[in-house]
Amino acid sequence: MPTKINWADETINPVVGCTPVSSGCDRCFAARFASRGLTPRHRGLTKHGKWTGKIRLMPSELMKPLHWMKPRRIFVGSMGDLWNPAVPDGVVDEVYGLAGICPQHTFVALTKRPEFAIMYHECEYGTLRHRWAEAAKELLRISGLSDAQQDVVRCRNTIYDAGPMANVIIGVSVEDQDTADERIPLLLQIPAARRIVSYEPALAPVDWAPWIPIGLDGLVCGPETGPGARPCDPAWLQSAADQCRAAGVPFWLKKGTLPDGTCPQGWPT
Ligand code: SF4
Repeated sequence: MPTKINWADETINPVVGCTPVSSGCDRCFAARFASRGLTPRHRGLTKHGKWTGKIRLMPSELMKPLHWMKPRRIFVGSMGDLWNPAVPDGVVDEVYGLAGICPQHTFVALTKRPEFAIMYHECEYGTLRHRWAEAAKELLRISGLSDAQQDVVRCRNTIYDAGPMANVIIGVSVEDQDTADERIPLLLQIPAARRIVSYEPALAPVDWAPWIPIGLDGLVCGPETGPGARPCDPAWLQSAADQCRAAGVPFWLKKGTLPDGTCPQGWPT
């Protein structure tokens, strides 16, 4: 579905449901959405109005990008965390398999659990690629695409290209200095073509100096939003933007303008 997340063109949610890991989860978007949304896909995720954390797999979500021919930037997982340990590795295999047969799109996955993302990628790379290829084959089998369309998709398959998959961006979400210091070094260990950080909700200032020059490809920032949002000092965001600008790192402000009057929206190319 078209998304309200302004750095993405689309959102797909092969996983719905999650469990909190840090204060950035206190007003989890997925939990809030589930407790008021009550579309069929969210039923059962709340009990007496409370988020149960129950994880559901939504395989049909993975079909959508196969039918989008124009390039789109796709956020994978606004309603959960792909590397929640309760999510089977097979789901991540499917996301990579999908990315391999849809090189026209860029897939962006954010996690607050980079340690599990590292464990996933530690599997021997040739074996991982074989798993992605098998997952892609199965996605195609159930895609509903015609034989001719499937042939086109197979021709553009990049799963066995060398190096990390070029159209998969992996990021960590952080909310303060402690979570930045904990998660960013782990992010940098994940074999990804590009790595970003989502500083949202920004709950406290972060010194980005140790991280920006050594491998971050982008920083997305924003305050917490909605009723009861915790405060965000615009100076924290300005500081992040200034540090990115000085280092030539793309910076994306999700909402409003910075104290200097700008609204930078740069994305890694
Ligand atoms: S990791 Fe993300 S999806 Fe999971 S509870 Fe925290 S904010 Fe919600």
